[in-house]
Order: sequence, then C-alpha cells, then structure tokens
Amino acid sequence: MVFTALLLQLTASLAGAHGFRVAAGKADITPDLRTETTWMAGYGASGRRPTGVHDPFYARALVVSDEDKTVALVALDNIGTFREDVEAIRRELGWTGGKKYLFLAATHTHSGPDTEGLWGRFPAVSGVDARYHSRMLKTVVELVRGLSARLEPARLSAARADVEPHGLCRDSRDPVVIDPELDAVQFLRDDGKSLGTLVRWSCHPEVMERGNRELTPDFPGALCARVEAKTGGPCVYFSGAIGGMMTPDVDHSKGTRHEFAEVKRVGERVADLALAAFRKERIEASGGPVGFESRIVRVPVENSRYLIFLPNLVFGHKLFHADGRPMGALSPYWLSLRHLMSFPLPDALRPRVETEVSLVRLGPVQLLGIPGELLPELAIGGYDGRYRFGYPLVDPSNPNPPDLKRAPKGPYLREKLKSRSGIIVGLANDHLGYIIPAYDFQVAHNRSMEPHVAGTHYEETNSVGPSATAIILKACDELLK
Ligand SMILES: [Zn+2]
Repeated sequence: MVFTALLLQLTASLAGAHGFRVAAGKADITPDLRTETTWMAGYGASGRRPTGVHDPFYARALVVSDEDKTVALVALDNIGTFREDVEAIRRELGWTGGKKYLFLAATHTHSGPDTEGLWGRFPAVSGVDARYHSRMLKTVVELVRGLSARLEPARLSAARADVEPHGLCRDSRDPVVIDPELDAVQFLRDDGKSLGTLVRWSCHPEVMERGNRELTPDFPGALCARVEAKTGGPCVYFSGAIGGMMTPDVDHSKGTRHEFAEVKRVGERVADLALAAFRKERIEASGGPVGFESRIVRVPVENSRYLIFLPNLVFGHKLFHADGRPMGALSPYWLSLRHLMSFPLPDALRPRVETEVSLVRLGPVQLLGIPGELLPELAIGGYDGRYRFGYPLVDPSNPNPPDLKRAPKGPYLREKLKSRSGIIVGLANDHLGYIIPAYDFQVAHNRSMEPHVAGTHYEETNSVGPSATAIILKACDELLK
C-alpha cells in the first residue's frame, strides 16, 4: 500500500517535472495623447505627430514553464525595443540568469510611438516620451510577474502552413524571395480551451503608410484581435524574416490602397489561416523540456550615417571600443567628428554594439531569436527561384541586379533548425536594422551612406553594416549545433 502510494507520487512528480505550466495575458500600452508627447515611428528620418488612436496597443505575453525552467514570450506593439530595455525588464523581474528567461520581440508596426529615439521633430532628434517609455517597461514587468504567479497545466499544439502570398505580402527587393511560412503554437487546457496562441508570419506591419496620422498596431493588431475572439485566449504575434523588403500586398482593385480596411483584411486573413493550420496537421506535446540559451555578440557600427549621428543613436545600446573597453560618454561625439573630418574611420576606431542571439525550446518547438530584420533569403535561400511565387526572380529592368552566382550556398538557417517545429523570430531582444547577405551589400561606405547605387538598396542604409550578418549567423550556428 505504502509502495503503491509512493509509486503514484513518483509518477506524478515525474510527469509534473516536464508537464507544461502556462499562463497568457495582455496589458494595454496605448500612448496617452493627453499626457504623453507622442511621435510616430517608422518612416523617414523624423517623426509624425498623431491626431488620434485608431486601435489599442498591447504588450502580450505567454509564460511557459516545465517547473524547472520558465520562459516568457512577450510581443510589444512597437517599431522595435532595444537590448538595454530588454535587460532593464529582466533586471526588474530578477530574471538575469539561471532558470528564467525573457524573450521579447517588437511587432514592428510603422504607425506606433517612437521607442528607439529615432523619430522626433527633426532628424537625429529623439521622439521618445520618457513617461511613456517607463510606463511601457513597467507594464511588461507587471504583466510577466502576474502571469508567472498563475501558471496552470496545459498541453502544446503546433501547426504550420505555407501561405500563398499574393494579396498579402510581396518582396520589393531583388531577388524575390518570399518566406511563405506561417507558424502557430497553442497551449490548451484539459477541457480543450485555449490558454494562449503564438502566431508568427513574415511581413512588414506597414499597411498604413507615411501619410497616416492615427496610431495603430497595423495588421498584427487585427490579427491578434481575430485570434483572441475566436479562441478566447490572448495571441502573441511575432514577425519572422521581414527584411529586404517584405511589404503588404494591398488591394488596389477599389482604387484604395493603404487604409484601415486593408489592415483588417490582411490581419484577419492571416489569423484565419493560422487557426485553419491546426485542423490540417499538428504536433502535440503534453510537456517540455523548456529551455533557453543565448549568445551575446558585438558587431561593429560601419554604417556611415549611424557614425555621423552616433551621439544621437546611443539610446538603448552600450557602445564598446574594438578592444572591448566600454566607451565613455564623450567618445560618440569625438568619433562622429573624426568620421566627418577624416573619412573613413579606421576599423580599430569603429564602435561596437552588443546584441543577443537566442534559442528557446518548448518541447518540440524551437524559437530562434534574431536581433533585427533578417532578409528572408538568409533564412530560407531561394536564390534558385523556388520562393518567387510567379514574380521574376530578378526584375529585368533592375539596373543593378544582385550577382546570384555570389549568393551564399545552403544549408540556410531554416534547415539548420532541426526541431519538429523551428520558428525564426525577427526583432527579438533587440533591433539592429536590416541583416543583409554580404554579397549584395552594395552601398559601400561613403561619407553619408546615401543609397548612391542604382536599384533597390535602401536596406543597406538602415543596417549596422555588412560585418554584422556573418557575426550573427555564426552565433546562430553555435546555438544550433
Ligand atoms: Zn523594417
């Protein structure tokens, strides 16, 4: 009798050791236009003053534990959240090592508040409102803390679909490589009710363009609202490989383009496809293990424009000398001047920024966190045209086409993620701009880093530089070994 009881207890605790315990929730982070000075981020070199709020902004979170380790997956409706902020939240939570890990990614809406100090009244002037910023960080801390205190048993269901991109997303930079992958992960109670859903898709949340003056999380807002209405549980949305340049393929048929009806159409369509994916083929798991690993790397700032405006760009990042010493407060001013006076700045003088590459495991699901906007070809290849979806691989009128013979050979990142469900998440735990394959990094270092080469090479001007790509991919390889 005693033996049976012991055995039962042992079985229960073994099951408990790897069974998922989960909580999901959301908290409002809509800017308050009466008390917070808001500048809209996302286009050009200066911000826009909003006239109103179209739909609410949220911090959404899924906290998953196997009772040994705990991971909080957090999505924020904003353009990007820098590493310093992620670290500040971790410190406040007391999650700075050991058994708990915060994985935070911005949705990258282009109609939200400036959270990066890049879109103020004038170029190189911050548009961040300090009150809003600290309220946003505090809200995330409280959300994660609250959810961590009310975890409940759940099982995981993971699904994937390939989305036909026409009418949803297109690629505006050659070669045409559109990542069709739509991922959805759901945590379910015993009674089958959803505790929370994670959706990941790759397209810029920029249905609303530069002319828009109403704050909106863009299509991820509509997507999450739809999933939440249909499942009853919160929805965390992550962007995948959205660089170079995955942009919404809006409906031109009614003569309308970038309007709120399109935001709703794109968001709800992708939400419906994500939920439909569970009805086709899915992986189920009753438990973990839950795990995480990350690599901290330093990448050189090579972009000439970033160097000119270095004193204004240190918001959210610590800078280091090439030899590893942290930079003093005056160094950015001196380096900016030196860059302007005696271009080019020697490599040994270029500042380094610290960033993070991470891998999270939730049983059969792996999430690879990339700290920026990865060009999809770095994730899935496609230089042979397999992801061009009927478009020419290279526009015949492109005056400066990419030299595809020099394109990197596989295996690509997606293939290296060998788990049964491997999900690449962009803008994770930092935002370093575009991450571009070196062979097509054509905007060389001129003094002003203007896109002076013909063809579509805007992305280079919003990238830390060509060296970052190899450093970040190497860190991914180490994590995936
Ligand atoms: Zn972007």
